Amino acid sequence: MTNSVPQLALNSGTSIPQLGFGVFKVDPADTQRVVEDALEVGYRHIDTATGYNNEAEVGAAIAASGIPREELFITTKLTNADHKSGEVSAAFDLSLTKLGLDYLDLYLIHWPMPANEKYVQTWRQFERFYGEHSARAIGVSNFLVPYLETLIEATDIVPAVNQVELHPIFQQLELHDYAAAHGIAVEAWGPLGQGKYDLFGMSPIEAAAAAHAKSPAQVVIRWHLQTGNIVIPKSNSRERMAENFDVFDFELSADEMAAIDGLEENRRVGGNPAEVN
Ligand code: NAD
Repeated sequence: MTNSVPQLALNSGTSIPQLGFGVFKVDPADTQRVVEDALEVGYRHIDTATGYNNEAEVGAAIAASGIPREELFITTKLTNADHKSGEVSAAFDLSLTKLGLDYLDLYLIHWPMPANEKYVQTWRQFERFYGEHSARAIGVSNFLVPYLETLIEATDIVPAVNQVELHPIFQQLELHDYAAAHGIAVEAWGPLGQGKYDLFGMSPIEAAAAAHAKSPAQVVIRWHLQTGNIVIPKSNSRERMAENFDVFDFELSADEMAAIDGLEENRRVGGNPAEVN
């Protein structure tokens, strides 16, 4: 199963499994079990953040799994507090310690916090982690196009990834075009709309699910994969983890893709990055 996940080349020279597993809002008390289940199901790409307060438990699951380090892809993110205070190096080291790793596959600035005007300075430190090979790829999260423009203009390394809210009713079309033109991979957070909309009851998604004898969640994940997004759905339930991973035996037709594309409403479920400071 694991081998069926496509690997996307990043501008860092490394590659990322296109389907991963996110652990936002997974209680620390549940995290080791949840991540062990995800690894057993076949996920090899885990997305956490210092702000999720569960890096140590992700690390415990990695250690317990016995899976060779080079088969795993581990992402974590700098918190807004550490970004604000400028304690970037200490925060990075603490994340590595908690995860029990000596390098990260991807380190992200969690939010740009534009009013603080620190993301360029923070990125300079990220460039150092990349230069030292302690982060094999560096990227950003929740960056709007103007912040990417500022960063690219002012620094040396183009982010490998921008992880943003993205699902069929908030498709980030402008950002997608910008990212494609600059070699930045787009990673979708809240890929299932965080369960906050009745995405699964929308007719193009229901129709495709019925046509392929798949669930609506599998259709949405398939839509992400065929759109070219990196996708990191989250679930505490092993059954749903397996369902979300079982998406490589069918393909949405061009018409089905177009019908789901037609759901775009430019409507977020999460915070606007311009206002998170
Ligand atoms: P998501 O869209 O993955 O939704 C998760 C919810 O969907 C689950 O709680 C569950 O209720 C439901 N679900 C999952 N599988 C299902 C299935 N097969 N059938 C029915 N319901 C199902 O939302 P998310 O967790 O917010 O996003 C995924 C990951 O993205 C996070 O875990 C985290 O790693 C990352 N993330 C990053 C940011 C950021 O600012 N960078 C913000 C939010 C999330």
